Amino acid sequence: MPILSPHKLHLFTPGPTPVPDSVLRELSAPIIHHRTAQWQEAFGEVLDGLRKVFGTSGDIAMFSSSGSGAMESAVANLVRPGDEVVVAMHGRFGMRWAQMAERYGAVVRVHQTERGLRPDPHEIGSFVERHPAARVVFCTHSETSTGAVSDAEAIASSIKAQAGDDHLLVLDAISSLGATDMQADKWGWDCVVAGSQKALMVPPGLSFAAISARALEKSRETSDRRWYFDWAKAIDAHRKLPPSTPVTPALTIVLALRVALNLMFDEGLEAVYQRHVRLGRATRAAVHALGFELFSPDDDSSVALTAVCVPDGLDGTKIPAALKDLGVTIAGGQDDLKGKIFRLGHCGWVNELDVILMIGALERSLHELGVRFELGAALAAVQRSFLDPKIEVSA
Ligand SMILES: *Cc1c(COP(=O)(O)O)cnc(C)c1O
Repeated sequence: MPILSPHKLHLFTPGPTPVPDSVLRELSAPIIHHRTAQWQEAFGEVLDGLRKVFGTSGDIAMFSSSGSGAMESAVANLVRPGDEVVVAMHGRFGMRWAQMAERYGAVVRVHQTERGLRPDPHEIGSFVERHPAARVVFCTHSETSTGAVSDAEAIASSIKAQAGDDHLLVLDAISSLGATDMQADKWGWDCVVAGSQKALMVPPGLSFAAISARALEKSRETSDRRWYFDWAKAIDAHRKLPPSTPVTPALTIVLALRVALNLMFDEGLEAVYQRHVRLGRATRAAVHALGFELFSPDDDSSVALTAVCVPDGLDGTKIPAALKDLGVTIAGGQDDLKGKIFRLGHCGWVNELDVILMIGALERSLHELGVRFELGAALAAVQRSFLDPKIEVSA
């Protein structure tokens, strides 16, 4: 397929995601020092802003790492060798919790939900109840490998109702934070982790853990097995007035995050979440119009990406490759799903016209690949979906 001229790049992956122009400008500003009032003020603002997005009045620890660093911090601070833990997984990122916990010497009990489906909160609650020795439960919110977003509110309440309130509940919200509502305190999650490069609209390089008082207390009981990722060390510095960090922070990305958070607050968090629902809905309408099957749930909870099954007889790896020739990057499937699904990201700095571009490029690529469908049908479905005014946001 010919490369379009002039060549433009469009990123529709579920992370990293496109970065707004004003954030890019901030990223090019000269470096400042982190022991200055200018930095301290910005850092304090970022911590306050993150608290709003996480739905917590508690502590947030920030690390210079990809999202997995904050995940590892949770394991390093809460898991001791020989401890029993539960991992409720519905895809490959849930598997990462299990692998990490094993490396830290935990006995891991895995509750598995079929990939592409949302986990059943009641089943997770009873699974935890059946493993009374487990003290920590690890879950995934938006499972980026499949597009299925778990009901984090219902899962926490089901665990508490069935197995009691003394478990520490840990949630990977790396690709959902900023795309859909998060109420860490109200829902009762003791640790929620996120990264900078998904819905928060900044480059990769920062990770965050929102930590409850009892999780922090538990981590303070043991500090012999970590240094960089020690929660108490980070939080004791962040709590100072003015706030500080125990090590040199990734200054530039934090300053960029301040700009990105302000964009979110200017739009309004509720409006940001509704926009993600609309983008997901229009993308699913396009998939139906093409006659393709969804791999992700056909449901408004799928806010970060839409995963699509590749029809029989088509080599699925050709679809992202064909789009790449048009300058459009989407994601394929991972591991054994490679070639079987492709993933359309609509998370972060994405608007309705971007989805029209993405679906237009998809139609063009499928047409070039010889797939039979009515050219324009998916685009028409997207337009109709956006013109439909009713949006009810399901939790
Ligand atoms: C992206 C992602 C991760 C890993 O993040 P890295 O930044 O690549 O370390 C973990 N979990 C989920 C759900 C993700 O989407």
